[in-house]
Amino acid sequence: MKKLEKLALLKGTLNESHKLRRSLLIKAMDDLESEEVHCQNCPGTCCTFFGNSMQMTLSETWDLYDYLVDEDQWTEELKTKLENCVSDFRLLNRPSTGGGQLMRKTYTCPFFTETALGCPLPKTVKPYGCLGFNPKLKNEESGKSCGANQEVLEQREESFNQFNQEEQLNLELKEILSIPWDKESIPVALLELDRRLSHITE
Ligand code: SF4
Ligand code: SF4
Repeated sequence: MKKLEKLALLKGTLNESHKLRRSLLIKAMDDLESEEVHCQNCPGTCCTFFGNSMQMTLSETWDLYDYLVDEDQWTEELKTKLENCVSDFRLLNRPSTGGGQLMRKTYTCPFFTETALGCPLPKTVKPYGCLGFNPKLKNEESGKSCGANQEVLEQREESFNQFNQEEQLNLELKEILSIPWDKESIPVALLELDRRLSHITE
């Protein structure tokens, strides 16, 4: 089967499942909000250079990219913003930390609007790590109590892999697109997906 045909099949599977793949995380977030554990009073520390080193897998990158294209938001302006972020925070320069791992770098997310509740992206296409990072105290004001909800993140990963083979989807995307990494920062991942897709002609 040709690459474009394989991608069309994968696109269908990914588009059908993007909400489901995030449902556990969104529910956990909604449950916290109903107990007044929310981000409304915080300037968004976890989206800035001080707290953000978010990385995405290829399937997460696909979900976000597809949303941006569909909403006519994948513009030259956005691409320049992503490129500036990569260069400002030197996101392509990740020294080895040993054992085949590369340093994870912090950066201010190019989607962050610099205000409280400053993420303009819908929950259904946000990186899993963003959805799983929440305050632990009521009315958090600075991000001091916040952390990743590992239990729900692992639960999500296990349930989705068991029934829907997310790992397999990522492997297929990697192979078709000839992408070497498993996870990358938000701007690097989006720009690379766009570049690879534009080179597939058959
Ligand atoms: S995608 Fe949204 S929640 Fe995640 S780091 Fe960027 S602005 Fe923050
Ligand atoms: S998760 Fe924490 S640091 Fe991030 S916006 Fe919410 S309250 Fe602030």
